[in-house]
Amino acid sequence: MKGCQKQFMTLAGAVLHLESGGCCSGVDRAKVDHYMFAHDTRHVVTSATARMYRCPNRACATEKLKLGAIYQHVQMGSGGANRFAKVRNVLESFVSGMGELR
Ligand SMILES: [Zn+2]
Ligand SMILES: [Zn+2]
Repeated sequence: MKGCQKQFMTLAGAVLHLESGGCCSGVDRAKVDHYMFAHDTRHVVTSATARMYRCPNRACATEKLKLGAIYQHVQMGSGGANRFAKVRNVLESFVSGMGELR
């Protein structure tokens, strides 16, 4: 992110940092939401009915308010990782486009 000096080991960590609203780049949850809902047109992780994120594993009913929380949920092995890979690219370009991850 512009002006952000933090380095993250994982993409999930970067997303959680942004969603916390504490990033000096000015990117916050609203901007992450805006970007993801605009780009996840197939609703892999975004809910079609509410401003929520859903587990990409269709057999799992988990929904979270934050994308970072869903990301962690997937990383813990809930299933749906293959589907999540489709939005991971979107996420990576969002984060790396702002200069956070290289
Ligand atoms: Zn930051
Ligand atoms: Zn799940």
